[in-house]
Amino acid sequence: MTDKTTNISDKLVREDVLNMVPYQSARREQAGGSCWLNANEAGGNNQLDISLSNLNRYPDFQPQQLINAYAQYAGVENKQVLATRGADEGIEVLIRTFCQSAQDNIIICPPTYGMYAISAKGHAVNVTTVPLTDDLQLDLALLEENKNQTKIVFICSPNNPTGDVINRNDIITTLELFKDSALVVVDEAYIEFCPELSFAKLLNDYPNLVILRTLSKAFALAGLRCGFTLASNEIITMMSKIIAPYPISNPVSAIASQALTQNLNEMQQRVIQTNKLNVEIGEFLKQQTWLEKLFISKTNYILFQANNASTLFNSLIKQGVLIRNQSSQLGLDNCLRVSIGNVNELEQFKSAVNTYNQQQENSTCKT
Ligand SMILES: *Cc1c(COP(=O)(O)O)cnc(C)c1O
Repeated sequence: MTDKTTNISDKLVREDVLNMVPYQSARREQAGGSCWLNANEAGGNNQLDISLSNLNRYPDFQPQQLINAYAQYAGVENKQVLATRGADEGIEVLIRTFCQSAQDNIIICPPTYGMYAISAKGHAVNVTTVPLTDDLQLDLALLEENKNQTKIVFICSPNNPTGDVINRNDIITTLELFKDSALVVVDEAYIEFCPELSFAKLLNDYPNLVILRTLSKAFALAGLRCGFTLASNEIITMMSKIIAPYPISNPVSAIASQALTQNLNEMQQRVIQTNKLNVEIGEFLKQQTWLEKLFISKTNYILFQANNASTLFNSLIKQGVLIRNQSSQLGLDNCLRVSIGNVNELEQFKSAVNTYNQQQENSTCKT
């Protein structure tokens, strides 16, 4: 590494990325103007109408309207935001920007979201596992042991698939622990369900803090593929060298911008409704004789442990109700995860569980 490094981003970034000149797209190079003959685009527009004019043009590298809308929504500065194709692309670009293949490490804390390890492996980056403790919190002692051997620590809070948040003080301790040695990524894909617990306000206090966000969950726009990375401008600048030159298409930008401004209220209503159904489904699960454990959920899904997980899971499939089997995750034997859908879907789930219970009862009576 060079010794003229000043900030954590320059210090951690792959040396070849530090010195790399990003792809000079016409759109990135030259803003404004009215006669665009610099990008081999069609001069006339296509026939599409609705709000989708300008499809003959490449989008801005980072559409201004979208960045404004998200920065305002998240309470951060525009230069601290990178729009990506889903939060998954944020994970991918972070690893490709900061980790040298066949050399560097990331830390994951399972049971957790699977894409950190998959993206790392795809880039030949080593994955160090620091499992969550029995109460599903960070193992600070083990994190400290790995302090100087990693480039990025991924923390998911609220955690997928377990559903609870990671203790705030432990994340702060981790940020301090790695402040000179690694980025600490807090994946806030589900933060809309408990917005008061976001780390976004701490961006200016911790230069190694990176936050991942998405429109796929509470905003109900998974099909759109739109997410955001929030971080210091230095980190965003480095990631901008690696991400594709036009990651966000014009229609995506238009739809996402609207969701973040005019339609914010719709998202908030959905969160209120989901949190209410979360309590209801929790009550329903608690009545089940086969329930071993109900996990705390601050999200739009609930994890539970059942003494009959695989038979229950298969019975639900047979009845057309698909939930997720998490039994193969570290420490999650016999655990199933049900998403909190709409009222109708939850009724189907309950009725399928009741049918299963009935069948079990009948078969035990016969024997
Ligand atoms: C769904 C999810 C993502 C990915 O979201 P996209 O924006 O759809 O790519 C990232 N992290 C966690 C924890 C998720 O559950």
